[in-house]
Formats: sequence, structure tokens, C-alpha cells
Amino acid sequence: MTVRTGEEAFMENILITGGAGFIGSHLAERSLEKGYEVTVIDNFDPFYDPNVKRQNISKASMDPRYQLLEGDIRDEEFIHFVFGRHTPDIVVHLAARAGVRPSIDHPVIYNDVNVRGTAIILEACHKHGVKRFIFGSSSSVYGNAEKVPFSEDDNVDYPVSPYAATKKAGELLCYTYHHLYGMAIHCLRFFTVFGPRQRPEMAIHKFTRMIDRDEELTQYGNGKSSRDYTYIEDIIDGVMASIENVSGYEIINLGESKTTSITELIKKLEALLGKKARVRVLPHQPGDVHTTCADIRKAARILGYAPKFPVDAGLKVFVEWYKDTGQRTFR
Ligand code: NAD
Repeated sequence: MTVRTGEEAFMENILITGGAGFIGSHLAERSLEKGYEVTVIDNFDPFYDPNVKRQNISKASMDPRYQLLEGDIRDEEFIHFVFGRHTPDIVVHLAARAGVRPSIDHPVIYNDVNVRGTAIILEACHKHGVKRFIFGSSSSVYGNAEKVPFSEDDNVDYPVSPYAATKKAGELLCYTYHHLYGMAIHCLRFFTVFGPRQRPEMAIHKFTRMIDRDEELTQYGNGKSSRDYTYIEDIIDGVMASIENVSGYEIINLGESKTTSITELIKKLEALLGKKARVRVLPHQPGDVHTTCADIRKAARILGYAPKFPVDAGLKVFVEWYKDTGQRTFR
């Protein structure tokens, strides 16, 4: 966004950590469209193929207002160098180890990247005078809460995976930096995000790939567990509104407030791909939650958030993207 002060006009700079990933690369593109300068920090972590991330940023990186700085958020020297050279007006912190199940096998790495890494970014913001901060949190903090939809006031003291615990810890650190230094912070709890570039290990992407290739897909549990699937454009609308309105300290859900069961999801993908899924059913996995569903009234009130993509419309775009591009980017 261009800001005018007296005679001068300057573009605000958004720093996006994890900006080469699924959500971050979409956010970078939208931010450029809106007139911001964009700085991305990403270490091209091998959690999934780094070439997919290079592809994600191929469009944005053509823009002269876009700068990629490759490095690790846990490298304090690098981070302080970056903040010193490119002091951002606002930071959107998305870099993380994502995914529930792998966090059970690698809890220490998840803690290191998601908690220590967040502390390093917050401290750099404080030291370099960044006053506005957006944190990519997750619906997983609600654990196996029985009351749906999930509201920001609900108790989230019972995370059921290391990943969820690290996201809750990140929110706590954010509150502390708001309290100590008056930083304006929004912690946005994303509910299962999907759309073009979705991480290849996430259910919608994985199921699409398996059905398309006539490979057997694994369904954990009886198929009744459900998710509030949120289309990427809606998430980006929410993050942009947050960038433009952040003040105080707020936790805000970003979801669609509708649920789709695993069985329904597989049926929808079968219809879109014109193929039958071969499904192997295994027991429910520890760490998985039964349902997620966002109460989005607070997002509507504070951000004017109003999701526009029902799951059917979003899946149609996703499958078209998969056929066109996605299937070539993941082998
Ligand atoms: P992603 O894995 O595609 O993106 C994360 C990016 O962070 C990757 O490009 C990765 O290379 C980078 N990264 C990882 N470790 C890093 C490090 N140590 N230093 C620098 N960069 C590092 O994931 P995503 O789906 O785009 O998720 C983005 C954020 O949103 C994450 O914080 C995730 O926990 C959160 N989130 C995502 C979802 C979802 O459904 N996708 C839901 C809830 C929360």
C-alpha cells in the first residue's frame, strides 16, 4: 500500500516469513497487487519438495518490488541482519513446521522451528521497531473440543498434538510481546486451508493425487471425522484485512464455518476427477481431532471477513489446478 506523508509517498513493506510456502506465496502475490513491497524469508525446508516452493514464487519473484532472502528463522544473526537492512512496516509470520501427524514423530524440531523461531522473529520485531505483527496460528489449538463451532473464547489448554501445542505457545509469546512492547498483534487461527499449491501431504491434495493415479488411499477412522475447509482466497482476504486493521492483541478464527466429512470429501473428489477411489481404512490416528468448525463472527466484526468460496466451488478450482499444474509439480 502506498502511504503519503507530506510531499513524499512511500510503499509499505510487508515481511512474510515462510513466504515461499502454500499460504505465504499467495499472500505475497496479493500484497504486490495491493501495492506493497514484499520481503520473503524462507529456508526452503525439505518437509516437502523445495522445487514446489520455487515454483510457488515464480510469478511474484518477477516483480521488482519483491525480494527473497533465503535463510532460517532460527538463525539469529541472519534475522537481525535482514531486519536491520530491510526494516519492515509489518511482519506476517507463517514460517513453521506444519502438519499434525509428523509432529508426533518430530516434536523437538516442531518446537524448535515453531516456538524458538517465533521468539526470534518477535524479538527481532521488538529490536527493530516493528509495530504490527500477524501470526499464522491454527484451528488445531482447539484440540478435541466438543462445543462447535469453535470460538476464540473457548478454552484451548488441551492440545492433542505437539504441532497444536507449538501454535498455542506461539500465541502466548505474541501476547507477551504485545503486553511488554505494545506491538499490535493478530493471531489468525486458520482452519484447514486448500486451493492451488496446497501442501502435497494435506488430505485434499493427497486424495486427489491418489484417485487420479488409481493408487490406494488411506482413510484413518470411519470417514465421519470432518473439517472446516477454507479456500485460500478467503484466507488471503482475511490476512489482508488483518494487515490493514491490526491493533491491540486479538485472536481471530478464519474458516468457512461449514464442515465436510472425509467420506463426503472423497465422493466430491471422485465426481470431479471422474474416477472411483480405492480406499483402505485404518484406525483413527492419535493427534487427529474429530471435527473442526470455526465461529467466524469475530472475524466478520473486526475484519469484515465474509468467505466467498463454498467447498464445492473451491474443490473445482483445486482439481482444475491439479490437472493443469499440480500433478506435474509433485511426483
Ligand atoms: P508451508 O509448509 O507450505 O509453508 C511454510 C513455509 O515455511 C515453507 O515454505 C517452509 O520452507 C518455510 N519454513 C519452514 N521452516 C522454516 C525455517 N526454519 N526458516 C524459514 N522458513 C521456514 O505451509 P502452509 O500450509 O503454507 O502454512 C503456513 C502457516 O500457516 C504455517 O505456520 C502453518 O502452521 C499455518 N497453518 C496452515 C494451515 C493450512 O491448512 N495450510 C492451517 C493452519 C495453520
